[in-house]
Amino acid sequence: MSTSLGLGSIRTPRVTSVKNSIVLAGYAMCASLCLSAACQSPTPFSLRDLGSGAWAAIDNSAAKPDLAGSNAGFVIGPEAVLVVDTFESSAAAQKMLEAIREKTNLPVRYVVNTHYHLDHVAGNEVFAKSGATVMAQDNVRPWMRTENLKFFGEKITPKQREWVDNFYLPDVTYAQGATAYIGINRGEVLRFMPGHTGGDTIIYDAQANVVFCGDLFWNHTLSNLIDASTKEWVETLNVLVHDYPSAKFVPGHGEKVGDASDVRAFRDYLVFLRQAVSRAQADGASSANVLKVVLPQVSESYGKWAFFDFAGPGIQQTDEELRHLKKLPQQPLK
Ligand SMILES: [Zn+2]
Repeated sequence: MSTSLGLGSIRTPRVTSVKNSIVLAGYAMCASLCLSAACQSPTPFSLRDLGSGAWAAIDNSAAKPDLAGSNAGFVIGPEAVLVVDTFESSAAAQKMLEAIREKTNLPVRYVVNTHYHLDHVAGNEVFAKSGATVMAQDNVRPWMRTENLKFFGEKITPKQREWVDNFYLPDVTYAQGATAYIGINRGEVLRFMPGHTGGDTIIYDAQANVVFCGDLFWNHTLSNLIDASTKEWVETLNVLVHDYPSAKFVPGHGEKVGDASDVRAFRDYLVFLRQAVSRAQADGASSANVLKVVLPQVSESYGKWAFFDFAGPGIQQTDEELRHLKKLPQQPLK
């Protein structure tokens, strides 16, 4: 099914000019190198070997209709496989399952949803049907079929609603974290950290020294702040670089696996945004004028980052947050 309406809000700018030119160059190369049917459609993601059985699956936004829509990954342990996120379509998730099957016949024992956003959870069912247990922070389960509706706006179609209504929910949830074992001595650390949605999990694999960040980290890419608490988010990013200083960081969006300096660069973007909005507010700017004042500043400093279309909404959402007017997803009563 087409999800373009949903995408319009959740990750509006799928392809920036820089990314677009890379993608188009890739197409041109493909067209010139091979004329066979095998080259007709790009795969939804490309795999990056992170060592010790850990793999990142990086979104290839040129792939349609089997949309990945976000980055994901998996870790192959001595006894089992753990998958991090399941993309924006079952078709892309199925292709990740096939890619895993090309490497190992070990069972996919766990799927971890880093947060509830539809571009990270839509393929859950593919892995659940193959026997995996889906895990996530407590808030992901109640938000997955409710909060995801907002990305379609008021013109949501019955088909889109049905799609969200049928998302496969986490089987196991936790408040602060868990350890998921994929071997006697290999435990994947699932750790709740606030910022992007209020229900975010990072997954740390010590053997490969990799942190799968979900959307807590966007690598040189402006982020979706619709559910963000940027103060907590900045603190989370400080903890990440403090606790995992030499790790490889897999972003939720962005073409490259990063290191601590890339995470710091993203933290600095959030700090920059908060300071610029705060300054404009202190100068007496109305919300409309905050956008006018801050957008050129963001453009000057971050104009080359991907997904620049998130700059405007990000400024407005940060303005609401700093005025204490922002509506965040409600946490269920315990
Ligand atoms: Zn997200």
